[in-house]
Amino acid sequence: MIPKLIFVMLAILSTTAALASPAHSPWPGGIGIVHIPGDQRPSVTVDDQPALVLRAGNEWIAVVGIPLGQTAPGAITATISVPNQESRQVEIEIRAHAYEEQRLSVDRKYVDPGQEELERIFVEREIIDAALGHWREASLAGLSLKAPVGGRRSSSFGRRRFFNDQPRSPHKGMDITANSGTPVSAPISGVVTATGNYFFNGNTVIIDHGQGFISLYCHLSEISVDEGEWVSTGTAIGKVGATGRVTGAHLHFATYLNGTAVDPALLLTD
Ligand SMILES: [Zn+2]
Repeated sequence: MIPKLIFVMLAILSTTAALASPAHSPWPGGIGIVHIPGDQRPSVTVDDQPALVLRAGNEWIAVVGIPLGQTAPGAITATISVPNQESRQVEIEIRAHAYEEQRLSVDRKYVDPGQEELERIFVEREIIDAALGHWREASLAGLSLKAPVGGRRSSSFGRRRFFNDQPRSPHKGMDITANSGTPVSAPISGVVTATGNYFFNGNTVIIDHGQGFISLYCHLSEISVDEGEWVSTGTAIGKVGATGRVTGAHLHFATYLNGTAVDPALLLTD
């Protein structure tokens, strides 16, 4: 009886640990995990940007987003500071990861925007970048996400993209195909920090989950939340659509850590 009970308890403990933080996925667009023993909460920075820290069992875990543009093989350095101790540095070894090419055809204005559109893009870029790089102190229990919408998921994160044969920045999210009007829900709680109709992203919602963990939802047909609103897991935030630079109705779902896009597939649990 007792061994069985111990086994069950261990199983629960390991499940909890597995849910608390994603797996160590040390490649461009992936997530690096740094284990930090001790009781005092450390602060961790990567490239002078603060990184997310979670408590797991009797240690702390730094969850570090690795930029898609990171050279691989290579390394990034995490600086760990604990009150009343000298700060130390830990190297995260980065493995190479092959991303395919993706070629798409879109309306010409999305490849060759006019002067007025360029000015609009510039203003929107600043708003979006500020929201994606925002830091809000918060204590997080974990980073596990429920899918914001059901549907076929592309594995196109990180793909090098060509629009009408012109090279553009890599794909920084996951595309989930669903019919226009399908409700999109928050995959974890947070604060809505930006909503708007943007040139490339169409109708967009950005949610701040705390400690630099941010999610982005694009091409919506409808937005159903306001800036500053607190959303719980499962709250409807909008509906799938085909607004902005798209080839059809889908949700562009992206996740960010320390200001860098990481593959949402590494965080989804369903
Ligand atoms: Zn997309």
